[in-house]
Amino acid sequence: MNGTVTVDASLCKGCALCIPVCPNGLLRIDQDHFNARGVHPAELHDPEGACTGCELCATICPEAAITVYRDRS
Ligand code: SF4
Ligand code: SF4
Repeated sequence: MNGTVTVDASLCKGCALCIPVCPNGLLRIDQDHFNARGVHPAELHDPEGACTGCELCATICPEAAITVYRDRS
């Protein structure tokens, strides 16, 4: 099953908890941008469409900043 996620940068506190839990290493800190909280937010980097929609990242995020979409086809 394929999936994807969005990170609401305005909610992200840059704690990086989501990064090690992704089995495919698809999340990283966006070093090029700051959000209104003054931190670098997390972002998805998935050029090959490897996200499975497993929801591990969204589950661990303390700010509920990650939304998971799963392809059910
Ligand atoms: S849903 Fe799973 S595979 Fe997709 S980015 Fe989050 S932890 Fe990684
Ligand atoms: S776990 Fe949530 S708040 Fe922490 S870096 Fe990831 S998206 Fe941002």
